[in-house]
Amino acid sequence: MKKQETVCKVAFVGSECYPFVKTGGLGDVMYALPRALIREGCECRVILPLYACIKDQYKQKMQYKGSFMMDLTLEGRTFYVGIMELEMDGVIYDFIDNREFFDWGNPYTGLWEDIPKYCYFSKASLAALNYLEWIPDVIHCHDWQAALVPLYLKTKFWNCDLKKSKSMLTIHNLRFQGICGIQHLKYWSGLSDGLFDYPVLKQADDEANMFKGGLAYADAITTVSATYAKEIQTPEYGERLDAHLRYHSTRMKGIVNGIDTDIWNSSTDKLLAAPYDVTDVLEKKWENKEALREQLGLSRDDGSKIMIGLVSRLTDQKGLDLVDAIMPEIMDGRTQVIVLGTGDPRYENAFRYYEEKYPGDVCAYISYNEGLAHRIYAGTDAFLVPSLFEPCGLTQLIAMRYGTIPIVRETGGLKDTVLPYDEETQEGNGFTFVTYKPDQLLKAVDSAKDLFFGDRQKWDAMVKRDMMKDVSWEQSAKQYLEFYKELMA
Ligand code: ADP
Repeated sequence: MKKQETVCKVAFVGSECYPFVKTGGLGDVMYALPRALIREGCECRVILPLYACIKDQYKQKMQYKGSFMMDLTLEGRTFYVGIMELEMDGVIYDFIDNREFFDWGNPYTGLWEDIPKYCYFSKASLAALNYLEWIPDVIHCHDWQAALVPLYLKTKFWNCDLKKSKSMLTIHNLRFQGICGIQHLKYWSGLSDGLFDYPVLKQADDEANMFKGGLAYADAITTVSATYAKEIQTPEYGERLDAHLRYHSTRMKGIVNGIDTDIWNSSTDKLLAAPYDVTDVLEKKWENKEALREQLGLSRDDGSKIMIGLVSRLTDQKGLDLVDAIMPEIMDGRTQVIVLGTGDPRYENAFRYYEEKYPGDVCAYISYNEGLAHRIYAGTDAFLVPSLFEPCGLTQLIAMRYGTIPIVRETGGLKDTVLPYDEETQEGNGFTFVTYKPDQLLKAVDSAKDLFFGDRQKWDAMVKRDMMKDVSWEQSAKQYLEFYKELMA
């Protein structure tokens, strides 16, 4: 059989990737997008740090591909770069091995140590591609940890074949930028003085910003939803980079994330008590709900309660102060709430408090637990994502896929993916609110309850509509490929 011609060679560079290491949506995207691009005829490599926290089951399967010494820092100190390789479902994963940088952290430590770590990683990723003689058409970098790649590419790697590669930098979350003192970054990156000026890496007197520099030097910029692409050009959402982003906006596009529909498939999901599809969701959701109650020690009921889920990092970004403010109103005797997450002790303790205050009706599971997350998506009726800002958000997509109605704030990707329920046309996927205020969230939750308790047929129709909504990577992967082709032209 004739081998299909490669339409584009793409190297992904980023700090996390499921199933090796994941702390949030970035890890999901680094896993799912290359796989979706392969289906479009691309060749993909993913370059990651070989963190100590990666499980042995993966490390044991890796093959040593070579090693060399690389200079870094202003003094030109040399550091070991090892390349360990693993192939999984057609995607090649190259792990950069250096114990000095990657032996601690989960995977992050603190900015002071993380800045040298990701200076090293960004430069070593390019050096590894060069060593492997694998010259991509596009080097697709993700978030601040890989933001120096476009700068290294156009300076230190300008004399080798890699100069043919174009760079794309994707903003998954602008809140984290890799900011530090200019001397610290100057020393570790080894980049020339000229780059530490306002148009590129300099942010303020004695403040350097890795993301800012990457955005200035990347051939293309993307972010993970069209609404977030617009929002970050305003002072409200721009995290001090709004003017910089407006300046570079002609090279920027918003492409919404999808979810991996093999992992998030309710009919084959082995983690569920009762797998289901759109034909039997109504009965099976009930079975999953019962199993969830049993597992979490929530009280049983005769079907008269609505169960609301929340799976999230517990940080200010996620709108948890709104949830905290209205919990007493949400808990009206006909509602159960399950929260799964870790993060800010303020929120962890608030939800623990509500668990004590409403025994049998609130569960605060303060932990990171993949299996339980699947069971919550399947077993709950509605799902809260009231974020202050949300570049894309994956949890609302997973919830819809599992027939669970999202209640979201209209910001970023939440706005682009959840169409508000319309009583008249019987269209829409969930309940939404605009203004970041507790009473607005409460109104949205109450509207959801009104439909759930008042007209279950219409609710059930929305459950089925949501399960059939296309939230896969296919459309998004096609848009990325179009953008890659524009760069290659
Ligand atoms: P962010 O990247 O801002 O954390 P996203 O919605 O883009 O948010 O992605 C969150 C991902 O992490 C989802 O796959 C979600 O299921 C998962 N997740 C978040 N918190 C937990 C947790 N405590 N346990 C298991 N999975 C979690």
